[in-house]
Amino acid sequence: MTGNDTDDTRTDGAVPDYLTETPPVDHGFVCESCGHRWYYTRRACPECRARTVSTYQLTTGDVVTWTTVGVTPPDVREPNRLAVVRFGDVQLIAQLEEDEITAGETVEFTGEHRLRDSTSDTAPRLTRVEK
Ligand SMILES: [Zn+2]
Repeated sequence: MTGNDTDDTRTDGAVPDYLTETPPVDHGFVCESCGHRWYYTRRACPECRARTVSTYQLTTGDVVTWTTVGVTPPDVREPNRLAVVRFGDVQLIAQLEEDEITAGETVEFTGEHRLRDSTSDTAPRLTRVEK
């Protein structure tokens, strides 16, 4: 490998050529060739290297674990609560809206929140689904 141009699985957030823009944080990726699903932008399917990729809305997921980060970068809320969540075939980490949660609880992405003070971009946070 001679650099990023040949690394089809890099995850640097660059918009890959199969997309016209970065999808919202509440979307996963699915390979149209082999059906593999993943999260986070990649330049190609990590299983078969195909570049025929679609995005799909993540619905509800199960909390694997969560934590509170007490010291954060200057433009990130403090404390910052983060959860590792499994949405079917994919697992991701994202900001949690709840003050506390328990592993195994169900969450979904809701709302529009500024995730960093340095940008006006907003995104949903993980919120408990009441049963
Ligand atoms: Zn594939």
